[in-house]
Amino acid sequence: MSVLIYVNHQNGKIKKSTFETALYARKVAEMLQTDEVIALSLGQVSDEALTLLGNYGVTKVLSDNQALFDHFDAGVHTKALASAVEQTGATAIIISQNSNGKAIAPRLSMRLKAGLVSGAIELPIVNGNTFTVKKSVFSGKAFANYSILTPIKIIALNPNSYPVVKGQGLAAVEQFNSGITASDVKIKVKEIKSLSDSVPLPEAELVVSAGRGMKGPENWGMIEELAQALGAATACSRPVADVHWRPHHEHVGQTGITIRPNLYIAIGISGAIQHLAGVNNSKVIVVINKDPEAPFFKAADYGIVGDAFEIIPKLTQAVKAFKAQNN
Ligand SMILES: Cc1cc2nc3c(=O)[nH]c(=O)nc-3n(C[C@H](O)[C@H](O)[C@H](O)COP(=O)(O)OP(=O)(O)OC[C@H]3O[C@@H](n4cnc5c(N)ncnc54)[C@H](O)[C@@H]3O)c2cc1C
Repeated sequence: MSVLIYVNHQNGKIKKSTFETALYARKVAEMLQTDEVIALSLGQVSDEALTLLGNYGVTKVLSDNQALFDHFDAGVHTKALASAVEQTGATAIIISQNSNGKAIAPRLSMRLKAGLVSGAIELPIVNGNTFTVKKSVFSGKAFANYSILTPIKIIALNPNSYPVVKGQGLAAVEQFNSGITASDVKIKVKEIKSLSDSVPLPEAELVVSAGRGMKGPENWGMIEELAQALGAATACSRPVADVHWRPHHEHVGQTGITIRPNLYIAIGISGAIQHLAGVNNSKVIVVINKDPEAPFFKAADYGIVGDAFEIIPKLTQAVKAFKAQNN
């Protein structure tokens, strides 16, 4: 019996979501009274980086570093993961509910005829052969507990749901033959355009977001400056993206990206239910709005009633001063 995780990496660098799933998997392994937490790495990551997954509770890493895996093809990654499950006899598989995970987990569930809970927010309760897993439902308005009864169980863990604490230990790295060949690859990536110098929104721990209250795209300089001072990603409400003040990949909410940062600062955003659906699981919400009746204040941990155009420059200045003093 073992617990298997899928390694998320980019340009050879292992992502934080992997550390979250590794630590979560370590706890699940303890509940199952096994010591084995195995990680599957597909694509090019150095053995040295993989060994360090031992700092997060992984005992063994299976690595298939063929260049075939470098461009994400959900079908191919699912097939390789299924092969790893077969070869290891893993009974619990933990995957991050990020963009790759959302594509892989349901496919894997079908392939292995395994029960899946996607968007888990806590450790499961393990009772004999049953896992009961909590997730938030109805756009974060309620919680539901799902029981997985199948012999193999898959949990897709919401990003930023499980704390990352680095420990000690080194994982053994073994070459793994997933059996994938060029004929399995169905997707050809022609070009990748990456946004430089910005924190990817789905992974960001701090997010500065703004809405129609900013009046126009020419006023976003102050939002970017605040985000930069904090080391945060930028986001926006949907109408802002719809009128092209900001790119669509920044739009959060029911029809946009769902995020769960440690800090969400909402500036000039009313707090409509469709917006809240994507952000109300943030750990701390700060709302800045000139209307004291703005609905967002009901969801806020801290609220500032006032004109964003006066408050933001002062806030940015204060953040910079604080950082200068504490560095
Ligand atoms: C099916 C459907 C799906 C949707 N999905 C989404 C979604 O995913 N994400 C999303 O965001 N929306 C979504 N919407 C739209 C949503 O209902 C709201 O219309 C939208 O969130 C409002 O955006 P806003 O708060 O930026 O703008 P507004 O509602 O115009 O609010 C602007 C706010 O700025 C404040 N303000 C104005 N000037 C200042 C100032 N100088 N300083 C400080 N505050 C100021 C105002 O008091 C006001 O509260 C969806 C709607 C539908 C019908």
